[in-house]
Amino acid sequence: MAFDRDQFVERLQQIRRPLEFAARQNVRKIAVLQDLEARLLEWLEAATALHPAPELAANLDACRRLFTGFDRADPSTKRQVITTALGRLDHLMVLVDRQLSEIPQHPPLPSPSASSTTSPAPVNVLTQSIQFLKGVGPARAQMLRRLGIETIGDALALLPRRYDDRTNLKPIRSLQVGTQETFEGTILVSGSSRTGRGRRLYEMIVGDATGTMRCLWFQFHEAYMRQRYRTGQHVTVTGEVRINAYSGQRKEVHHPDLELIEADEHEPLHTGRMVPVYPATEGLHQKTLRTVIKRIVDEYAHQVEDCLPPALRQRLHLLEASQALREVHFPSADADLEALNHWSSEAHRRLVFEEFFLLELGLALRQRDTTIEERRIAYRGTGALADQLRTQLPFELTTAQEHVLAEIMANMRRPHPMNRLLQGDVGSGKTIVALLAMLLAIESGFQAAIMVPTEILAEQHYLTMHRLVEPLGVRVMLLTSAIKGSRRRELLETIAAGDVDLIVGTHALIQEGLEFKALGLAVIDEQHRFGVLQRATLKRKGYSPDVLVMTATPIPRTLAMTVYGDLEVSIIDELPPGRLPVITQLCYESRRGQSYELMRQVLRQGRQVYVVYPLIEESEKTDLRAATAMAEQLQREVLHEFRVGLLHGRLKSDQKEHIMRAFSTGDLEVLVSTTVIEVGVDVPNATLMLVEHAERFGLAQLHQLRGRVGRSHHQAYCLLMADFPMSEEAKRRLQTLTEYDDGFMIAERDLEIRGPGEFLGTRQSGLPELRVAHLIRDQRVLAEARREAFALVAEDPHLSRPEHEGLRQALMNRWQQKFELMHVG
Ligand code: ADP
Ligand code: MG
Repeated sequence: MAFDRDQFVERLQQIRRPLEFAARQNVRKIAVLQDLEARLLEWLEAATALHPAPELAANLDACRRLFTGFDRADPSTKRQVITTALGRLDHLMVLVDRQLSEIPQHPPLPSPSASSTTSPAPVNVLTQSIQFLKGVGPARAQMLRRLGIETIGDALALLPRRYDDRTNLKPIRSLQVGTQETFEGTILVSGSSRTGRGRRLYEMIVGDATGTMRCLWFQFHEAYMRQRYRTGQHVTVTGEVRINAYSGQRKEVHHPDLELIEADEHEPLHTGRMVPVYPATEGLHQKTLRTVIKRIVDEYAHQVEDCLPPALRQRLHLLEASQALREVHFPSADADLEALNHWSSEAHRRLVFEEFFLLELGLALRQRDTTIEERRIAYRGTGALADQLRTQLPFELTTAQEHVLAEIMANMRRPHPMNRLLQGDVGSGKTIVALLAMLLAIESGFQAAIMVPTEILAEQHYLTMHRLVEPLGVRVMLLTSAIKGSRRRELLETIAAGDVDLIVGTHALIQEGLEFKALGLAVIDEQHRFGVLQRATLKRKGYSPDVLVMTATPIPRTLAMTVYGDLEVSIIDELPPGRLPVITQLCYESRRGQSYELMRQVLRQGRQVYVVYPLIEESEKTDLRAATAMAEQLQREVLHEFRVGLLHGRLKSDQKEHIMRAFSTGDLEVLVSTTVIEVGVDVPNATLMLVEHAERFGLAQLHQLRGRVGRSHHQAYCLLMADFPMSEEAKRRLQTLTEYDDGFMIAERDLEIRGPGEFLGTRQSGLPELRVAHLIRDQRVLAEARREAFALVAEDPHLSRPEHEGLRQALMNRWQQKFELMHVG
């Protein structure tokens, strides 16, 4: 009997799957798997029965020895066996692969029906490795991996970046200036040249029966271009058609997308239809990729099981998964090209919906867990204490603050613990809202804590809160890591004894063996580094307080909904009255003198000034020297009539405190600082900020920094000093900042410029990577998916109904690790 490679690979994967599952989360999953030994041995037997080559058989044998006695082994041995076995299976795969490259390639494209009868449908086609696909082999698999494609599922999720309508190609003569066009032609000329001004460019003339078009590149790799594009070749060109700036007549395209049409490509797959164009990688040509994906679509798309319940699909008019996949890769002749190219076709909508839906289901399940949890704390206070403070405030709360406060207080009185995110742009007045909420807890006999990321901010909050609530008889305390020794022990004892009501501290506060007498509400301020500290952390410590997470880093709504999807969100969308937008200007070295002049003017009017210096060099020491020199120079030469101070992270706590206090009381008029002032600092009399090396900061960070000014009715300024040369991206960032004042707008732009992964730092964000959906482009679908997912979980909290089995499986496959969905299974 001939060795059936496909079957063999299928067996190996069958063995691999439970092992991989068990290996997750540091092999903690192992307890879930029962009778593993018997099953593994059986599968190994089945693989051996396929008559593999001796080399393969020997490895199977080694696996069998590994697994014998597995069930009775102790946990640490099990762990070791699993790791070793996975390594051995990898090795087996490599061996099979090597054999594969030696056997002749199969004839192309078996028909779907034929393939499904010859080999049994795998348990889950999507997780099957692409490497063993006919026609793929090790070299191509390697290139596909560069595109992030390891499995059939990955390949199906690699959606075309655009579609070319080759059913009806436009002749060159009829191409429109100012529009994105695609045309075909022959390369008539190809080579580099220089412009009149000596600038190098690469030029190509492409022609068809009706005319010619000039294609230009200003940045190019000459050897590559020459080697790849030769006269006489046929190409597809996509780009915006424009008019030559000098002649004012000739049409040209700059930096077009170019695709070679290979000689044998005039087959139906590549021409005469709506042709998908994939994000190709070097060495992997469009045509190859298209052929591979076509094969996968033909062979596997129909096997993809639809995880969405049919009723839901019908109600929302969603295509079936397999149909959507086929349609999105190889659209039918009557498809709407426009919709396809905007990712808004029915097929796209369906796939985007599924991805969001699964994500939101995960979030809904996680939220379900908090709402199942019973509140252990009951607030009996009437809110009188908070009201008392309100009468003493020098201002009225804004409507948005009122609204949000009501939301929070109502939440605190509900039967389940609060888990809420409070979002508000810089300066929107979150602190006071938090303080009023904390008073409700305190009035009811509980403690409240507010945690912030920096000592400076802790100190500041302490001063503000102490001043406001001490007169009401509330005992406030500051705890930072700077407080040490016996003083610290004393404080910890006071907290544990319940002799203090409100504790202000750094984030470290809850990680440091601190015990509360009765923690009712924990406020986490400026939590814009995501996922670090949430309710779970507190719960692990044995508390079950209400949690209010506050962030000023404007997270776009769409993103907040996904990342913080299991939190409820309150938004302060209004600034206190009388605030003027900060005038933001981009300055270059040549305008430094003018900037200093403005600075002196502002100072003479009695206002204060920040000068921010980034940490830029490799060594912190060098930076510090730069900032120090800057401060000295300013004091000596530019601002000798004013008092200049220097603040940086290396100072001792009491020094920092001293300087910050001097600045807030006005004793210091100018504060030269590294980015330690980035978050939260509130000195309303400071109205001008000069940011040095602004091009080195991220957009969100700059917005944060700028938020330090514009906190009063005086006109505020933000001057961004930037150095040349600057990257395009830096230019866009600074431009955005001068144009927009609203943090949400800025965040949306930031998200566009950087993409969600970068924006959040995907790894710590907990945001799963999205494959087909896009948070901004697909906002509407996201909202719909979220609504449906939460409704579904409300009805079937354990996804235990038979019609939800597919969803359960899909969830397990995709998000298991991300969400720790302990209760799904
Ligand atoms: P953020 O939301 O950035 O944390 P803060 O809570 O620090 O903002 O508030 C910014 C400034 O606005 C503070 O000086 C605060 O006292 C003041 N403030 C807060 N609410 C109001 C209001 N309703 N009217 C006027 N000023 C307010
Ligand atoms: Mg704040």
